[in-house]
Order: sequence, then structure tokens, then C-alpha cells
Amino acid sequence: MRVKLAGFNIDADILRRLDPGRGRHLTPETLSAAYARISRSPLAVDQLRKKACQDVEKARRSNQKIIFEMGHHSVAEHAVFNFDIMGVSRLALEEIERFRLASYTEKSQRYVTLEGDLVLPRELRAPESRKTFQAIVARQNRFYFRAFERLQRRLQHRHREIARSAAGQRLVEGWAKEDARYILPLATSGQAGVTVNARSLEHMFRSWRLSPREEVRRLAGKLHALVMPIAPSLILFPEPTDFDREAFAAIDGHFAAARPRPGQDLEIVAATENGDDMILAARLATVGSLDFGRALVRVRKLSPARKKTLLVEFFRKIQFFSAMPREFEMADITFQAVVSASCFAQLKRHRMATLLAGDYAPELGFSLPASIRDAGLDDEFAAIIRTTDEAYRRLRAAHGAAADYVLTNAHRRRVLMKMNLREMYHFVRLRDDAHAQWDIRALAGALAARVRRLWPLTAMMLCGKSRFAEEYGNIFSAPPAGAAPEASPGQEI
Ligand SMILES: Cc1cc2nc3c(=O)[nH]c(=O)nc-3n(C[C@H](O)[C@H](O)[C@H](O)COP(=O)(O)OP(=O)(O)OC[C@H]3O[C@@H](n4cnc5c(N)ncnc54)[C@H](O)[C@@H]3O)c2cc1C
Repeated sequence: MRVKLAGFNIDADILRRLDPGRGRHLTPETLSAAYARISRSPLAVDQLRKKACQDVEKARRSNQKIIFEMGHHSVAEHAVFNFDIMGVSRLALEEIERFRLASYTEKSQRYVTLEGDLVLPRELRAPESRKTFQAIVARQNRFYFRAFERLQRRLQHRHREIARSAAGQRLVEGWAKEDARYILPLATSGQAGVTVNARSLEHMFRSWRLSPREEVRRLAGKLHALVMPIAPSLILFPEPTDFDREAFAAIDGHFAAARPRPGQDLEIVAATENGDDMILAARLATVGSLDFGRALVRVRKLSPARKKTLLVEFFRKIQFFSAMPREFEMADITFQAVVSASCFAQLKRHRMATLLAGDYAPELGFSLPASIRDAGLDDEFAAIIRTTDEAYRRLRAAHGAAADYVLTNAHRRRVLMKMNLREMYHFVRLRDDAHAQWDIRALAGALAARVRRLWPLTAMMLCGKSRFAEEYGNIFSAPPAGAAPEASPGQEI
């Protein structure tokens, strides 16, 4: 066996310093070209790489042939890019982070005091619209700073013990920030680091170029202009097709847009019937090389007590960070929920799921943090939301989707999400936890309760990290093996 480290991503500023004359053709294309040749060449991989590096133009032609003519887009996955994306709106960040096969880290509104940095969308630059936009976002920001100060004072008083230490101070300050920001507009400026391979990037370009927002279409152009000098042979289809553009036209046209109406905040719309049996049968079918139908019959013959004993043994050695096995993907649940923009900003990051999001709509109401109510700021908060909704309706009539920029983190949308039990364990562990933010924690907690009722055996250990030891103790009357998760005081919801 021979193994070599063939490549890893390096900061572009270092590369520029290493190759000031740009003479060295620094490109990830040679990796794609070399790996694309593995399937049909007698040469060893490291020899293929050497050849590709010796003649980059030939490597490029080879990539184009393999991707364009033979349709093997997968070779483009061997090229990975990192992007700093700065000064974009919260709304644009939603469209950036919509893709699952990529990695993101975003500036958090929970931990960073916002300075009122805003994106004025080009669609709203006409004097009348600009005036409407600036008037409402200025009012939202003034309230943010006042609310932050008042909440911080109140929370420091209520949590005097916690606030004694510097870390405690920061924690309490974070609670004040995460609630005050509910009044901030989706035009608020943010930034993110993005890591993505060339194949996903091409897909992003096609999707962003169809965005209803000029800001996102412009972002696509900027990233494309940055990548093409480096890897022209790997980005071949950056333009949306007629299918991308029009496929849903007839369907959307037929169901003329109904105005959204408030409904239940959380509703299960579909779930695998008897997920416990499905998961047990999947295991039996795999390890026993049994036909799945026969495996299911055998599982269904087991007594409920016997099934419980088997699953209890399955969980005996679990630790708070243990990932569930692939068999747990055999049970999935589809739910709809009405969530605030703040909750959605966190929910969208769970990539191992199917997430469909409707537009933000004032008709769906707004989410009000309890701390704002307790501080007696709820009337003023609601008044600003009403004024925002009026501004939104005026701007929407003239500028369509660009009106969303004035909506706030408190405004809501309806989402449809499908998750399997494996991802649900991960989601609930992170989000129904003391470190989690109250809004998504409420959603995760409600979901966990429903899933535990649906699949009581395989979901018996479905809980937030901070409640892991307690749940384990309820089943095994003993503490779990291994380290306990770091304890942290949560903000009373
Ligand atoms: C308390 C808290 C604070 C947070 N603060 C911030 C913040 O300040 N800024 C911020 O940007 N985010 C923040 N996040 C979001 C966090 O970074 C994750 O994006 C989010 O929790 C989703 O988790 P995940 O990526 O593990 O989930 P999923 O995307 O659902 O992934 C599930 C699992 O699949 C695997 N996986 C998925 N994609 C990849 C991949 N590309 N490469 C390797 N493995 C992969 C991993 O094992 C992962 O655990 C915070 C989250 C929490 C809970």
C-alpha cells in the first residue's frame, strides 16, 4: 500500500506571496484532471498528478472533455474553494447557506453586538422607496440598542450569581443580544466563511442567478469572476437552464398564490409507520442478508417487551456525542412549522434533511421574546412590527421580493421539513440543549416529544445534550459511561 497527501487547501494570501508572478499556474484543476484519469489509465495516481501539473492546459482540456462530453461532473468535486463573503444581508445569507454539500460559518447575531450595518438593496434605491426603507430600519435599530441595554440590565440583575464572572457577564450579555435582535431587519449586514467544491459551486451559480434578489444575482457574478481565472475547466454550466427557470411555472400558475393564514406552529404531516420495527428489520435484513419483508415479519413476531429489551441493550453504551447508525435513517418524519427568521437562521444549517421554506409573511404573525414582554417593551415592539408591515406592503406592491429586506428577525414563515431519526438525534441533541437559543429549542423540544411518542423504542434516548445523563439514568438507573457534556446555565425561556 502507498499513500500520499496529494493536496489541502491553503490561505490564498499565502499562495499569492509564494507566487507573486502568478507563473506557477496554481489551480486545483490538476487534481480533478489526474483523478478523472484514474478509471482508465494504467499509471499510478501520483504519476497522473505529476503529468497534470506538468501541462495544466492539457489537464484543463481533459477536464472539459470528461465533464462536458462525458458528463462526469463528479471529478469537479476534487477541487475545493474557500470564500470570505462580507457585507451581505441576512436574506442573502439564507440563499447562500441553502446548499447542503458545502460548509459555512456565519457571524452570529447572538454573540456579536450589531452596529447598525445594513444592506440597502439596489431595488429600493429610488428616492421614495429608499425613504421608506431608511425610516423603518432606523426605527428598528434604535429600538434594538435601547432594548439591548434594558434587557442586559434586567438579566444581569436576575442572574447576579452568573454575572459575577467575566464569562458569566458575556453569557448574560449574549442573552440580551439574542432577544433584542428580534426587531432587527433582514437587511442587517452579516458575513460568512464558505467552503465548497466546484460541482456544488456550479449548482449554486445556477440557483443564485435565478434569485429574486439583485444582491444574490450580483454575488453569483462576483464569485464566478473570482473562480474562472483559477479553474475555468471545472465550472462549465454556471447559467440556469430553461428547466431551472420554468419547470414550476405551470404548477405555480395553476395554484394562484393563496394568502398565508396562521395555523399550528408545529404539525407532523407524514411519518414512517412503526419506525421502531422498520429500524430493527433493516438491521436484521442487513446482518442476516434477509429479504426485508421477511425481516419485518420476524421483527413483528417479537413481543413488545422483547423489542424493548433489545433496544435498551442497544443504548446501554451510548455517550452524549454518539452518532446514531445508518439504520436509524429508515424512519423519517415530515413536519411543517411556522418559524421566526431567527429560528430559521439556525434551522437552515441542518443540512442532512429536506427543508422547503415559504416566503416570510406578516399574516403569520411575529415571534416575541419573553424577555421583551417582561421588560414591558412588548407594546412598542408590536407597534414597530405594525409599522414594518405597512412599509413592507407598500414596498412589496412596487418591488416584490425586495420588500423582505425590511421584515425583522421576528417575522415568520412556514417551513416543510423531512428528517430521518438519525438526523433528528443530532438536531435535538444540539438544539434542545441548554446552550441552544430559546426559539429553536422550543421547536426541537416539541419535535422530540412527538417523535418519542411515534417511535418510543428507537427514540428512547432522543434528548438535548444537557439532559442526556438524566434521560440515561431514567432508563438504566445509573450514570452514562464516558465524559458528561459541559454544563451551562440556560436563559430561562
Ligand atoms: C449553540 C450553538 C451555537 C452556534 N453558533 C454558530 C455561530 O456562531 N455561527 C455559525 O455559523 N453557526 C453556529 N452554529 C451552527 C453550527 O455550526 C452548525 O452549523 C449547526 O449546529 C448544524 O450542525 P451540523 O453541521 O452538525 O448539522 P448538519 O448539517 O445536519 O450535519 C449533520 C452531520 O453530518 C455531517 N456533515 C454534514 N455536512 C458535512 C460536511 N460538509 N463535512 C463533514 N461532515 C458533514 C456531520 O457529522 C454533521 O454533524 C451554532 C450551533 C449551536 C448548536
